[in-house]
Amino acid sequence: MPTCPKYASSKTVKNGHIQNGKQRFLCHECGRQFVEKPAQKLISQATRDLIDRLLLERISMAGIARAVQVSEQWLQTYVNDKYAQVPRKVQVKPKKKGKLTIQSSNPAGAGEVSICGHSWTTKVTSSGSG
Ligand SMILES: [Zn+2]
Repeated sequence: MPTCPKYASSKTVKNGHIQNGKQRFLCHECGRQFVEKPAQKLISQATRDLIDRLLLERISMAGIARAVQVSEQWLQTYVNDKYAQVPRKVQVKPKKKGKLTIQSSNPAGAGEVSICGHSWTTKVTSSGSG
């Protein structure tokens, strides 16, 4: 017996058939009725590549499905999976607030540097002011 699609319960029994003759099952655990999964049609990598290209052409999903002969449902799932896999690597790092650090280098021979004082007499060779 197939397992229930809801909770993967194996307490399932045959429960008649659906219109197209497929076997229907009933889950004893949740009471759900379901049909065994249809055989997964293997979609080749070439077809997937083709779909990728068609998707870029802004063709409707239905049109693509018809063109490459897959079910619209499969195509929808494929596209959903595809976009779900797109890694989102954009990470915004919080800006660190720059601490006001004053490097008081006091080269030998140079004058005195006083930050909170009035003036300093060190020779400054770099131009520009911050
Ligand atoms: Zn169930």
